[in-house]
Amino acid sequence: MKAKVAIERCGEYDAEKLYRTLKSAAQAADFPNAKGKTVLLKPNIVMDATPEKAITTHPLFLEAAIRIVREWGVSRILVGDSPGLQGPNFTARNSRLGETAKRCGAEWVDFARSSMELNCPEGKVQRRFTVSKVLQSVDWVISLPKLKTHQLMYYTGAMKNIFGFILSAAKSSYHVRYPSREDFAAMIVDLNVAVKPVFAFMDAVIAMEGPGPSAGYPKQVGLVMASSNLLAMDIAASSIIGYPPQMIPVIRDALSRGIWLKDLPEIEYPLLKPGEVMIKDFIKIPFKKSENQLLDFVIPRPLKKLVKNQSPLPVIDDKVCVRCGDCVKICASSAMRLEGEGTARQVKIDKSRCIRCYCCHEICPLKAIAVSKR
Ligand code: SF4
Ligand code: SF4
Repeated sequence: MKAKVAIERCGEYDAEKLYRTLKSAAQAADFPNAKGKTVLLKPNIVMDATPEKAITTHPLFLEAAIRIVREWGVSRILVGDSPGLQGPNFTARNSRLGETAKRCGAEWVDFARSSMELNCPEGKVQRRFTVSKVLQSVDWVISLPKLKTHQLMYYTGAMKNIFGFILSAAKSSYHVRYPSREDFAAMIVDLNVAVKPVFAFMDAVIAMEGPGPSAGYPKQVGLVMASSNLLAMDIAASSIIGYPPQMIPVIRDALSRGIWLKDLPEIEYPLLKPGEVMIKDFIKIPFKKSENQLLDFVIPRPLKKLVKNQSPLPVIDDKVCVRCGDCVKICASSAMRLEGEGTARQVKIDKSRCIRCYCCHEICPLKAIAVSKR
């Protein structure tokens, strides 16, 4: 049987329009029988920013998803995520996702409250994850990604969104363990194998282009998508913005395993087709012919650590930086530090320690960190 990806047009964040288009997409994508299930809706909250910044899944999109799954008979709806730098009792106030969940009768869950071990015996690089314990109390996980570019992984969507189950700052330690794109992608795919999300609704009404996933620019795409096959959804979404899907590391790794799909012709589009809704001027992260990318393709995994990482370094704009220290906190390889006092205080990067994970770029609330061109 083919994997169905339903793509519908929805040009604005209007509660009724979102509900109608998302419901028709879910029906066309054969949303499974939800009666009596406890469901976790997992929006993307890489950083708790206001909705117009297009960093997070829009609260009205979450509202539409809650209405739909409730209508289809679920017994309990939980909503939550774990951004990179999360304080105690996180409520997603800026993104309005916590308040939306509660207003719509769902339960907001603080992912960081407790953790559990999740085995992944089939894992390629990771056989055990420490994840939010919320997983223990749900029957189904539904991914609610935002369509965005990603400085490290080029594209982020339904499968990458599952990385939110790793608690807060523990995420950056995975970058240290898996510094190459290829290995990091394999870890994300392992996590999807372990978490087993059953469905995804993608918010591509306003996407993010340029230096995503948090420092890019909102871009009108005007689409919503639904699928029970997260890989198929990511293939569709990445091709809509102009990427060759097999060049996206997570997609390439997932395809190679043949769990969800083996090839692109196995996808069926019951509504719109990606070719009909392509965004030709979408600003993407270019595939660099850097040594790091060559590492990913041609050098055997055991030798990679011996070759110097030549990917672009993060660069801080001192005129924009307010010295909040968030980047220093998130940097798992201790490559950043705040030096000096008073007006001379500055964030410094130790190039020899930097593994080019771009977590600092992702977390900076003021977009003060760019990834420099070589
Ligand atoms: S996170 Fe951004 S604003 Fe804060 S110290 Fe780092 S560069 Fe400066
Ligand atoms: S400086 Fe930034 S890119 Fe380099 S290791 Fe630290 S967080 Fe990652």
